[in-house]
Amino acid sequence: MAVNEHSCQDVDELLVAYADGELAAEPAERASAHLATCEKCRCKLAALERSLELAKAVWKESAEALAAPATEPVRRRPRWIKAAAAACIVLAVGLAVLWLATGPESRPPGLQPDPRHSAAGVQAMIQREEASARLAASARILSLQPGAEQAAEDAYRYLASAYSDTPAGREAARRILPQ
Ligand SMILES: [Zn+2]
Repeated sequence: MAVNEHSCQDVDELLVAYADGELAAEPAERASAHLATCEKCRCKLAALERSLELAKAVWKESAEALAAPATEPVRRRPRWIKAAAAACIVLAVGLAVLWLATGPESRPPGLQPDPRHSAAGVQAMIQREEASARLAASARILSLQPGAEQAAEDAYRYLASAYSDTPAGREAARRILPQ
């Protein structure tokens, strides 16, 4: 089957969401069909998935290290990555607490009906912060790999549009905007 540049570009825009598992059924099928025929896009997806796996592993380690700081330290990864992930968790929890602590009268009018007031809402918000921070870590990992700069930019672009309500999404938006 002929693979033209148009279908590569088309799928390109979907790859990060595809790797993130956030793609709807129809575009996911379209992406799968193209990936089955195109090695270039398969390689890109593999790089994305590796970086996401790595980011997830680092994230899991950080979360566990935070939960049990007294156990023997894990030193396989640079400390700054763990520190950064830990800072994100602390920030996410801090934001949630701050949100609960501020009275409704002090919030902007658009945010008045507040589903995040419930425990489940706060948990969902923290999960979103985690997911976006993992993606941001994945984009950083990609940006350090020679030849993966475009994939990193795509990841930041996806982060900026799909997670614009999170600090990581806003940071990604700043990165992709011309300064
Ligand atoms: Zn392709």
